[in-house]
Amino acid sequence: MQAVKSTDAGVRVVEVDDPTGDGVVVEVRSASVCGSDLHLVGFGPLPCVMGHEFAGVLADGTPVAVDPNAPCGSCDLCAEGKTHLCRNLAILGVTRDGGMAERVLVHPDALVRLPAGVAPEQACLVEPLAVAVHGMGLAGVHGGTRLAVVGAGSIGLAAVAAATGAGAEVQLEARHEAQRAAGERLGATGAPTGEYDLVVEAAGSQSAVDRAVQLLRPGGTVVFLSSFWDPLTMPGLAAAMKEATFKWSFTYGHHAAGRDVEVAAALLARRPEIADTLITHRFGLTDATEAFRVAADRAHGTIKVVLEPA
Ligand SMILES: [Zn+2]
Ligand SMILES: [Zn+2]
Repeated sequence: MQAVKSTDAGVRVVEVDDPTGDGVVVEVRSASVCGSDLHLVGFGPLPCVMGHEFAGVLADGTPVAVDPNAPCGSCDLCAEGKTHLCRNLAILGVTRDGGMAERVLVHPDALVRLPAGVAPEQACLVEPLAVAVHGMGLAGVHGGTRLAVVGAGSIGLAAVAAATGAGAEVQLEARHEAQRAAGERLGATGAPTGEYDLVVEAAGSQSAVDRAVQLLRPGGTVVFLSSFWDPLTMPGLAAAMKEATFKWSFTYGHHAAGRDVEVAAALLARRPEIADTLITHRFGLTDATEAFRVAADRAHGTIKVVLEPA
């Protein structure tokens, strides 16, 4: 079958063996390119098939999304139910073969049944949306919360969708006009003004961290939703003088209301404008090289680029 790998020559579609072994085979219908994928490609050739944001159908036609976190199931954190903090965490598309392929083998526990109204062609968004759902849960966002989101790439926009979905009032700091417009379609009400008890950092950059601390009301909390690939310099004095609380959010997990991935799937069903707004480009799997090029080009209205194997 065909699959996307990071090779010496860059992102390429290569022929690989069909997946075999214990687990369930998912026939992939959508796999989206993440900012993390763009970073991973920068490291050069990788052994695994790429793609941690993907969805498809089972052999009997059942539509599913997939939680790409593959915890060991036997460490102390797995025993506590904090499987995303597993000491031996494998991640499909990063350390194990992922979903940018015609087919992928997953653990049965990783499957997320899709609610009516969510097609597998859109459900690659369950993963990035679950990142936002998890972060908003850590931050305690509820109806009546007023927060600022700094950064309007797909994770920032997913945060807007998750927070407004929970009834919060959200202002969004966006770099590009298309991102600003997308944020407003998802319920953001303009750019941040004044101070906030809660600021969500969703850009993964030094300037965004500085801005997040600047927007913080003394005593407030910054939630880091993005991945930082480079060391970070903390604006320590400003943060200390505000007695800022910093919370780091990593992927998604389980909580009292269920799995973050299931909450995300329900949110996609309830608010069809999320998929309409976030997915800006679609390519066949064989055009993966071009898809990655477009995904890296934020200035031209790109939000989420989706690969479709079928
Ligand atoms: Zn991702
Ligand atoms: Zn574990």
